[in-house]
Amino acid sequence: MRRTPKTGIEATLIRRILHALGASGKLRDIEVGPGDDSAVISPRPDAQWVVTCDSFFEQTHFLPRFHPPDVVGFKALARAVSDLAAMGATPRFFLVALALPPSRTGKWLDEMLAGMARAARRLGIQLVGGDTSAQPSASLCLTVIGEVWRGMAVARSGARPGDHLFVSGMLGEARLGLELVQRGMARRPSLRSFLRRHYYPQPRIELGRWLARHRLVTAMIDLSDGLSTDLHNLCRASGVGALIRSEQVPRANLPVVRGIEMNALQLALHGGDDYELLFAVPARHVPRIPARFEAIRLTDIGEVTRDRAILQQDARGRRKILHAQGWDPFRSK
Ligand SMILES: [Mg+2]
Repeated sequence: MRRTPKTGIEATLIRRILHALGASGKLRDIEVGPGDDSAVISPRPDAQWVVTCDSFFEQTHFLPRFHPPDVVGFKALARAVSDLAAMGATPRFFLVALALPPSRTGKWLDEMLAGMARAARRLGIQLVGGDTSAQPSASLCLTVIGEVWRGMAVARSGARPGDHLFVSGMLGEARLGLELVQRGMARRPSLRSFLRRHYYPQPRIELGRWLARHRLVTAMIDLSDGLSTDLHNLCRASGVGALIRSEQVPRANLPVVRGIEMNALQLALHGGDDYELLFAVPARHVPRIPARFEAIRLTDIGEVTRDRAILQQDARGRRKILHAQGWDPFRSK
């Protein structure tokens, strides 16, 4: 992101972005910051970088009619960082490519950047570069870089038959928030906690790092697309199956809302957007997994099986196939 050579509207825009995201001063471990053609960063000895990117598009991932700009900025960065948490990494640096229609370069941009800056402070991640362009609709493409001690990153592919499957937090609340927002119920005070989960996801960075550092997990994934879909992704990568005990799946306490009929289990299994962690723990390490990590509940929901089928079992022991019914961007509606 060039700061000095450019003049005109883009230069002003870039200055505002750098100022809002606190990237105009001296930054930790960064030799050349976001004002130059590229950033120059010194990796720490014994560290490995964990790198990923995530796109956030108007209409696909956010709806300007329903989602305030600060929510757009916060969530775009938080969901990208969640993929670092899933590897057990500590977030360090990010780059942002912004495409904006002229109508979103004023107050909307300032509020969006304020939300992104708040997420960056909370997640401990620094802007090192980016790009801006004009487009008919808004999009935010985030590249995030995290750090792990050499050899400590946790992949999706290590789950083994007999491992226990755990999830963090309560599932389905974020999806419930989306349902409420789309029905114009966002302002009801009694429903605010569900909106918070949908608006401001909290990637489980400390939990992911703790599990990785103590080598308690064989595989890990963040729940962005819904438990059923992400479980399929983890099992496919590991070449295993799973048996989930559905009554154990931690789910939202649904409020009674007139006009909305929802099944808490279905929301928890397929809802998506939770940004909790799903992880596989060898049986010998299960006693080391606490019931809560900080305030976050950790729940044993089932086990990894040799047979590749992915099954759910109800309280009476009846089994059926758990299909991947979460978010799939390429599924026709
Ligand atoms: Mg992920």
